[in-house]
Amino acid sequence: MTRSQGVTRQSTLAHRTRREPPAGEPSRNARILERAGYVDKLMAGVYSFLPLGLRVLRNIEDIVRDEMTAVGGNEVLMPALHPIAAWEATGRQDMPILFRTGGDTAVLGPTHEEVVTPLMAAQVASYKDLPTAVFQIQNKFRDEARPKSGLLRGREFGMKDMYSFHLSGADLETYYEQVADAYRRVFARCGLGEVTHYTYASGGDFCEFSHEFQAVTPHGEDTVYLDHGKGTAINKEILDRYTPEEIAELEPVRAIEVGNIFKLGTRFADAVGFRLPDATGVPQRIHMGCYGIGTTRLVGAIAEILSTDDAMVWPAGVAPYAVHVIPLSAQQHQRAEEVAAALHRRGHTVLLDDRPARAGAKLADADLIGIPHRAVVGARTEEGRVEHSDRLADVTRTVPVAELAQLVTAV
Ligand code: ATP
Ligand code: MG
Repeated sequence: MTRSQGVTRQSTLAHRTRREPPAGEPSRNARILERAGYVDKLMAGVYSFLPLGLRVLRNIEDIVRDEMTAVGGNEVLMPALHPIAAWEATGRQDMPILFRTGGDTAVLGPTHEEVVTPLMAAQVASYKDLPTAVFQIQNKFRDEARPKSGLLRGREFGMKDMYSFHLSGADLETYYEQVADAYRRVFARCGLGEVTHYTYASGGDFCEFSHEFQAVTPHGEDTVYLDHGKGTAINKEILDRYTPEEIAELEPVRAIEVGNIFKLGTRFADAVGFRLPDATGVPQRIHMGCYGIGTTRLVGAIAEILSTDDAMVWPAGVAPYAVHVIPLSAQQHQRAEEVAAALHRRGHTVLLDDRPARAGAKLADADLIGIPHRAVVGARTEEGRVEHSDRLADVTRTVPVAELAQLVTAV
């Protein structure tokens, strides 16, 4: 996942770290991400992404895009502003989380069934065009009550939403399983594979179960019950469907819902009269699936799970840069420039701390920023060598510059 061009000099970056976490901020991910200069809070549940934070978000989006494309998703971009009539058509115009605007003529999109269904009804000409799926990566708006979990619960937040269209429930079923596998790959590539569990949840009005991807952490908002035997989990909201004996076998844990997949059935297609004649000319109802991933929530979830109070280590697949090159004093700047250039020639993304700051301050900042590989050049570092730290493996050793590029996983 190559996002950059060249070596980024920290002196030129619109970025600063803070000694203290933001005041009155209980959420762990927001405390570390704001302190490390990744995001800035505009108001409750609304954040700006600063250069380093945006690189992480873009890396996540690239992973999601790659995996959705691999299961046949077509990327589109739908409007965030919707006519209220689209919501009246499905009867969801009074949902409390809707941001209404334009003198009540429009809403800011919290999700896109209302837009995608008529859109696809107009694009799909024949039953031969199905199955098909479209996805987008876009900001959503939900007026969440008391957003207090930093990036985990935004009022404006990034989401990948995909919608699939099928001629039968069985075809939807098959595709749904493929998307579930694609989701497993997404979360593994984001460094959360081990902690993320496929979770049975309520299907609401649509189906018996929906499935969530829940990343386990003590600070999660949700409670899920791990079924170690099956390697899955059950959301607390549907626990009443299980017997006390079954429940006794499960382990309750806190978790963050990073993704959610749903079989919508024919409800939305029916609401807008989307049907297609089959080969014999008989009109058929259209079955839909919808598949969400919280892209900005993922930034928060990774930070929540992989940080301590003063340090962060990003997984290689999402890190803003692969290597942080740090000269400890001005005397080592030239050598550090050469190390950065050598890494860059080998295809690695590099952040070079060329600021005229004290060594201790630079290293503390580097701990906060959390780039997974660090190459330090100090007065005692021998010529032609660097102190390399693989921060995920927690290993530090002195290596020849020529070897360094091989030690760094390509990001
Ligand atoms: P939750 O149960 O957390 O309120 P949801 O079930 O309403 O979320 P969906 O409508 O399925 O969420 O949205 C798809 C994905 O978008 C979720 O799995 C989650 O990762 C993300 N998401 C939902 N709401 C928010 C939010 N307020 N802030 C950030 N991400 C969100
Ligand atoms: Mg949910």
